[in-house]
Amino acid sequence: MTDRVPTFRVAPSPTGYLHVGVARTALFNWLFAKHVGGRFVVRIEDTDLERSKEELIEPILSALSWLGLDWDGEIIRQSTRLDHYKQFAVQILESGHGYRCFCSPDQLKADREKAKVEKSAFGYNRRCLELSDAEIQERIEAGEKYALRLRIPEGETTYSDMVAGELIRDNKEIEDFIIARSDGTATYNLAVVIDDHDMGVTHVIRGNDHITNTFKQIHIYQALGFDIPQFGHTPMILRPDKKKVSKRLGDKDVNQFSKEGILPEAMVNYLSLLGWSPKTDNEIYSVEELIERFTPDNFNNSNAVFDQDKLLAFNKEHIQLKSDHELAVMSAPMLVEAGLTTKYWLETRWEYLRNVIAVLKERMKRVSDIVELSGYFFSADFSYDAKARAKHFHEESRLLLIDLAERIEAVDELTLETSEQVITELAVDRDIKKATIIHPTRLALSGVPGGPGLYDIMNLLGRKNVLDRLHRAIDFIANDRTN
Ligand code: GLU
Repeated sequence: MTDRVPTFRVAPSPTGYLHVGVARTALFNWLFAKHVGGRFVVRIEDTDLERSKEELIEPILSALSWLGLDWDGEIIRQSTRLDHYKQFAVQILESGHGYRCFCSPDQLKADREKAKVEKSAFGYNRRCLELSDAEIQERIEAGEKYALRLRIPEGETTYSDMVAGELIRDNKEIEDFIIARSDGTATYNLAVVIDDHDMGVTHVIRGNDHITNTFKQIHIYQALGFDIPQFGHTPMILRPDKKKVSKRLGDKDVNQFSKEGILPEAMVNYLSLLGWSPKTDNEIYSVEELIERFTPDNFNNSNAVFDQDKLLAFNKEHIQLKSDHELAVMSAPMLVEAGLTTKYWLETRWEYLRNVIAVLKERMKRVSDIVELSGYFFSADFSYDAKARAKHFHEESRLLLIDLAERIEAVDELTLETSEQVITELAVDRDIKKATIIHPTRLALSGVPGGPGLYDIMNLLGRKNVLDRLHRAIDFIANDRTN
């Protein structure tokens, strides 16, 4: 096993979208693969024909791509390998590790009910294990259908889990489970083992709801003489209501987070800390830093809660790490779609957009917040916030705005410095606080009471826009008063 290329995988079933639980599993495997310079492969587990949906495969793969979890080689689909699996069931039978089971579904149902009445755990009672060769032959010739079961030996099964440590199970608790159905098709656990073997998988990190499968799979590996990979079972991701994240509860498609203005870097960073820890006080990491630190000795063995507010806090931090240009590239289509500007206008005023981003960035929790925050930088056609208007628009402030407009007329250009200068001079000349001027001016220029610094707004809008907006507010206050 040591000379094999470390190979990790994720094996989503297209029975639902990729939710954060599977995304976290994929991420852990990917980070670990990158950390050791190994491979990361993807398998689509689509043998449950009733529940699998072809149209879900593309969104699952696009969610992985959005997170940046690039995979090696071809994607394997179980549904294309059904014939391939059959020979392994036969091999297990012929090598004596398996046996034919002729029990009918009715018989098994009766056994299960009996176990229930007796309050004992149900496990196959090995009725067919002791059949003689002659009897088996006779039943086959009589056309009786049979499934194949794996024969679990006496004793205990133990393995060292990368997350949970040494795990042990009494083999009495692992029943002789079915590996191939009466039509010869492989059951889930047999297919998974053959796939993992064929794909060269050396490490399997997955949710701890698969531990029971792992004990079964270990016996299949042994029966087929395959190398057993290293397993790691991570605790579940819970919702804030402490229920397990699941497709059935309608947990979100990871693609949706992208539409909601979450950066993949933030999602990766936040997910990486749900069940693993870099063992430092810092929580914000780039993907490269995570790859460098991702070792299996830092897994946590307790359930983690997925908290959207926490994700937003990570997103805000990662937004600050982006350059203004990168954020401008992401914001531009959102602004165009919101009708605030056009593609052409932005192309010719890219620097303006970058500067707008620079002053608003620290207020952005989602990239899409730019739409709500920046409206007044693209259009003067806004209404004034009602509460702020009642507070800051009155006769006194109208006279102040007139004075301010006159002073700006006398300035050649509005920069950060000249903006500050005119406001300061106005405050000194009238012997008032700067805030008395700043509040109505901000409202006149933006329509809202909060936002970036007033001098930043004046500097970005420029002399002409500032004057137009001051005059609009002056007229508005006058009309408002007479009405
Ligand atoms: N298809 C399984 C799931 O979606 C994963 C199986 C595995 O990781 O072995 O839960």
